[in-house]
Amino acid sequence: MLKTNLFLQKNAKAKGYAVPAFNINNLEITKAVINTASKMKSPVILQTSEGAIKYAGMKNLISLAKNAEDENRIPLSLHLDHGQDFDVIRKCIKLGYSSVMFDGSHMEFKDNVKNTKKVVNLAHKKGISVEGELGVLAGIEENIKSKNHIYTDPDQAKEFTLKTGVDTLAIAIGTSHGAYKFSGESKLDIKRLKEIEKKVKTPLVLHGASGVPEELKKKLLGTGLNIGKAKGVSDQEIRKAVKAGITKVNIDTDLRLAFTYGLRNFIKKNNEDFDPRKIMKPAMDEIEKVVEAKIKVLGSNRRY
Ligand SMILES: [Zn+2]
Repeated sequence: MLKTNLFLQKNAKAKGYAVPAFNINNLEITKAVINTASKMKSPVILQTSEGAIKYAGMKNLISLAKNAEDENRIPLSLHLDHGQDFDVIRKCIKLGYSSVMFDGSHMEFKDNVKNTKKVVNLAHKKGISVEGELGVLAGIEENIKSKNHIYTDPDQAKEFTLKTGVDTLAIAIGTSHGAYKFSGESKLDIKRLKEIEKKVKTPLVLHGASGVPEELKKKLLGTGLNIGKAKGVSDQEIRKAVKAGITKVNIDTDLRLAFTYGLRNFIKKNNEDFDPRKIMKPAMDEIEKVVEAKIKVLGSNRRY
């Protein structure tokens, strides 16, 4: 049986670590994530965006997650990331996701409350947990400066969780979606996080938390992919956030970069192979390295 995010995050909260949530889009990424998590005995959240569902098919993604759980006996959740379309959310709940997010972060507070509550009512009937979001992360293509963020207000977070009954809450404390997160130093508002953690009983989630390692940027440049001034969240800041109460950390961009590097590097160096299995293998190996590193930073290894 798939676990809910609430179950996994409550355990994490009790023991002081965070559960990694990796975005999956295909068989290769899923297998690489599961192999590593299983080897390291880390609980894991597989999450799919609405875009991933469009790309791979909802039933395919559900099968991948359920089979992974079956074969590896790993504490695992299948979660809808950034759900906004009620049709998609309803279908996820009906067909077998164990957790869904409703992202009303761009709405007025009262509309965010109203819609999140609606999803909570639908999901709780089936024993599925719901992640809400309060505060706004800067977007992927904007020139990211702090004025583009709307940080989560601790008192409002308390009101939001009480009014909606959400199981877990994504907050904004300085991270961003995409590869371009900081123009200066990578720094999160840990003081604010601590205030939220004090006021809110609900387990907390950090989005937009990829690291975009310099080393990987350099290697990508060697294959011809230039991502310029991209800058992610340092491991040190992530560790501080986990210590201050974050129990789920989302990772997508780092997986994309690793996959692309493995693929590009292999193709660049090989003029003879045309077997998709051979071409994809190095991409999977690169994903495994990222997953291993993230699990170590979040402290989720040897937890079951
Ligand atoms: Zn997100």
